[in-house]
Amino acid sequence: MWNRVEQTAREVFGTFGFGEIRPPIFEPTELFARAVGGETDIVSKEMYSFQDARGDLQEMREMIRNLVLPVVNETWTHASLDLLQKFQSRLGEAMRTGEVRQDEEDRRYYEYFSQGIAHYHLVLSGGIESNKLEIERTFRLLKLAAAGITLGPSVSLRPEATASVCRAYIENGMHAWPQPVKLYYMGPMFRRERPQKGRYRQFYQIGAEVLEMVPPNQDPAKNIGKDAAVDAEVIEMVMAFFGRLGLEGVKLEINSIGDRECRPKYVELLRAELMKVKDKLGPDSQRRIETNPLRVLDSKLESEQGIIAGLPRIADHLCGNCAGQYAEVKRQLGMRGVAYAENWRLVRGLDYYMRTTFEITARGLGSQNAVCGGGRYDGLVELLGGPPTKGIGFAIGEDRLILSLQEAGKGGVAQGRDVFVAWMGENAQATAIAAAQKLRAAGFRVELPPVEQKFRKALDQANRLGARYALILGDDEIATGQWTVKTLADGSQTKMSEAEFLEMLRKSL
Ligand code: ATP
Ligand code: MG
Repeated sequence: MWNRVEQTAREVFGTFGFGEIRPPIFEPTELFARAVGGETDIVSKEMYSFQDARGDLQEMREMIRNLVLPVVNETWTHASLDLLQKFQSRLGEAMRTGEVRQDEEDRRYYEYFSQGIAHYHLVLSGGIESNKLEIERTFRLLKLAAAGITLGPSVSLRPEATASVCRAYIENGMHAWPQPVKLYYMGPMFRRERPQKGRYRQFYQIGAEVLEMVPPNQDPAKNIGKDAAVDAEVIEMVMAFFGRLGLEGVKLEINSIGDRECRPKYVELLRAELMKVKDKLGPDSQRRIETNPLRVLDSKLESEQGIIAGLPRIADHLCGNCAGQYAEVKRQLGMRGVAYAENWRLVRGLDYYMRTTFEITARGLGSQNAVCGGGRYDGLVELLGGPPTKGIGFAIGEDRLILSLQEAGKGGVAQGRDVFVAWMGENAQATAIAAAQKLRAAGFRVELPPVEQKFRKALDQANRLGARYALILGDDEIATGQWTVKTLADGSQTKMSEAEFLEMLRKSL
C-alpha cells in the first residue's frame, strides 16, 4: 500500500514536471522557529528539540561529571581544579565568540560556575585534610552549574518540510535554475501530539513545492493571473493524484487569507469584533484574541459557532490584488474541472501562508479527516535569507491517506502474486527453483513454497495470496516437459511448455 501510494505520487508528480528532493530529518531549531513561526502550535508545543552538544567543551563537562568525589587528596584536587579552570576559560571564550548560544539562563549558570571556582580556591587555602566536606559540597555545585549550561546548538526533528525545501533552494542557488523550481518530497515528520487514529508522533507526509524567484522591479499586480494558474495547477495535481488512487469522498476547500497589506487590517478588525463578544467565548478563543485572532475561526466549539458566523469575513476585506488573484484561482480551477467549496473560515496553523490556502478532506477518518493542507507562501524564502521568491505548496498526510483507502477497501493485505509454484515430489524442487528464477528475472511476482505441499493445500495458499496462476510441477510434468497451469480465477487447467507459459504470462499480465 505504502509503495503503491508513493509510486503513484512519483508518477503523477513526474507528469507535472516535479523532481524529488530529500531534505534532512533534522535541522537547526532556528529554521523552523523562523519559517513556521515561534507562536504556532507546531513550534511552541509540538517540536522535538535537543541540544547538539559535542566537541571539547562537552568532553570536559563529561569528565567533570565523572570525577569521583570520595577521592579528595592533593593530586585529585589539583587535577580537578585544573580541569574546572580550563572548562571555565574555554566556555567563557565560546560564549564570547557566539560558539555557544548565550541566553540569560546560561549566563546565570556561568556566573554560578565562576563563583564556585573562586570559592573552591578559598576552601583549598584552608588545607585539604580539614576541608574535605566543604570541598565536596563546592564540587557538587560546580557540577550542577556546568550541567545547566547549553553547550551546543539546538536542533529539531522536522515537524514539516517546507522550511527545509526553502533552505535547500537558497543554499543550492536554485534561483539560478530555470524557474519555477518544482520539487516534491516524502518522508517522516515528527510532532509531539497525543497519538490517536490518524494522529501520530512520527507520521509521513508527501508534499510538493513550486518556488520562483521574482525578477527585480517586477510589478506584483502584473502576475496575478500567472500566480493563480500556478496555484490551480498545484491543486489540480493533488486532486489528480487522489483520483488515480481512487480516494473516496474527497472534498477540496479553498480560501484566500490576504497578504501583508490587507491581512493585518482584517486581523485588527476581527480582533475588535471579537473583543465585543469576548465574554461569550471559551478560554481558548479568548486567549487567541490576543495571540492569533484568525485561529478563533478554526474553533470547533459548538457554543461559539453562532458568534463566529456573524464575524467579518476576509473575502470582504481583501485588497485589490488579493481579490483579483482569488477570483482568478477559482476561474482556473473551473477551467481544469476541479470541484471546490469556499470556506472563509479556513485559516492554516502556520505563519507563512498568504493568499491562496486550501485543505482536502477524505472519507473514513473521523475527526482527523484532513488529508492535505497547502497554500501560497511568497516571501518565505526571503525571510530565510534568500532572494525575493514566490512559493506555493502542500503536504499530504500519508498515514491518513492510506487509512482512508483501506477503509474504502482499496487496501488489500495480500500483495498478490502472478504465479504460485506448486511442486510435489523430490525431483520437482530443482525444476521449481529454476522456473521461479526465470519467472522472477522476467519481472513476475512468484511464490515458491520452501517445502513440498499437498496439492489441496498449495491451491488454498495460492488463492489466499491472490495468485493469478498456479504452476503445478509433479513427476509427470518433469518427465514430459509439459507444465500444468491452473488459472485460479475460473479453475481451468491446461498443459504447456515452459516457453509457452512465459509467452502466455507476458500477454495476459
Ligand atoms: P491537524 O489540524 O489535523 O493537526 P495540521 O494543520 O497540523 O493538521 P499540516 O501541518 O497542514 O497539518 O500538515 C498537513 C497534513 O499532514 C495534515 O492535513 C494531516 O493529513 C497530516 N498530519 C499533520 N499532523 C499529523 C499527525 N500528527 N499524524 C498524522 N498526520 C498528520
Ligand atoms: Mg496539527
